[in-house]
Amino acid sequence: MKAIRFHEHGGPEVLRYEDVPDPILRKDQVLIRVKAVALNHLDLFVRQGVPGVPLPQIPGSDISGDVAEVGEYITDIKLGTRVLLAPMSFCGVCEKCVSGQQNFCPHFSVLGYRVPGGDAELIAVPRVNVLPIPDELTYDEAASVPLVFLTAWHMLVGRARIQPGQSILILGASSGVGSAAIQIAKLFNCRVIATAGSEWKLDRARELGADFTIDHYKQKISDEVKKITSKQGVDVVFEHVGQATWSESIRSLRAGGTLVTCGATTGFEGSIDLRVLFARQLSLLGSFMGNMGEFHEVMNHVFAGRLKPVVDKSFPLRDAAAAHEYLAKSSMFGKVILNP
Ligand SMILES: [Zn+2]
Repeated sequence: MKAIRFHEHGGPEVLRYEDVPDPILRKDQVLIRVKAVALNHLDLFVRQGVPGVPLPQIPGSDISGDVAEVGEYITDIKLGTRVLLAPMSFCGVCEKCVSGQQNFCPHFSVLGYRVPGGDAELIAVPRVNVLPIPDELTYDEAASVPLVFLTAWHMLVGRARIQPGQSILILGASSGVGSAAIQIAKLFNCRVIATAGSEWKLDRARELGADFTIDHYKQKISDEVKKITSKQGVDVVFEHVGQATWSESIRSLRAGGTLVTCGATTGFEGSIDLRVLFARQLSLLGSFMGNMGEFHEVMNHVFAGRLKPVVDKSFPLRDAAAAHEYLAKSSMFGKVILNP
């Protein structure tokens, strides 16, 4: 099959479009003919080099396609079924997995990180990863939802436990997780303040449901948040930007507020004045992906049309390097897709 692989870490130029052996299907697996795979910032980190990535590696976490073959033990899914894949890998038998906390499994990984991903014509995955999709969802739309909607759902619902009427500051509205978070927060009838880096992106954020928007290049986030919230600050800050916004995120919290973070695309350093942490009784929460229960819960909202995929642009799989450059420049709103 054709696939995108990298044999060494580095810039987009290390991505090679090449012939690789077809996956060998285990008896408990399903073989998927990939139709679309969405990029995430994780693809960039994995390509650049993070610990534990085997080489050569096929990146790609967010996958949709057709069932091409089923292993001997699989009896409940037909050839040709249109599906998307849960973007993770876990053992399925440890204490954490069987109690529904797959993202705490010692063997937990994301597809395309420590295990082969979907930037290929074929991928073999366990049956548990495979979820049929409704006819009206295109392959590009289906590939654009799993990782970002699961991540945003776990952050807001699983970790921060958002409630109707709360005010939520969502950083980076134009990113995949940002555009998912706006919709989830509105589904819970929260008041959403979203930030983005240009006027057209702020317009798109308002179309998705943001009640207020802040241009994070032209305006000081915490000052604008104070104006919007009558000097109170927000109940919850949705962080994934990291170093560039961290101090403004802390300043935007109300007393008793919660910051939840799933990433740090601009850098890993963030500090906090401990007097602010205890005197204002803030909560700082880390979040990583989500569990399988949350995956089914959030996908049901997508399949019912209550949460909408946001697709920016698609590239042919062979142009993966150009797509990586495009994502790195943040010129998108929503997800960037590759089509094998
Ligand atoms: Zn496990």
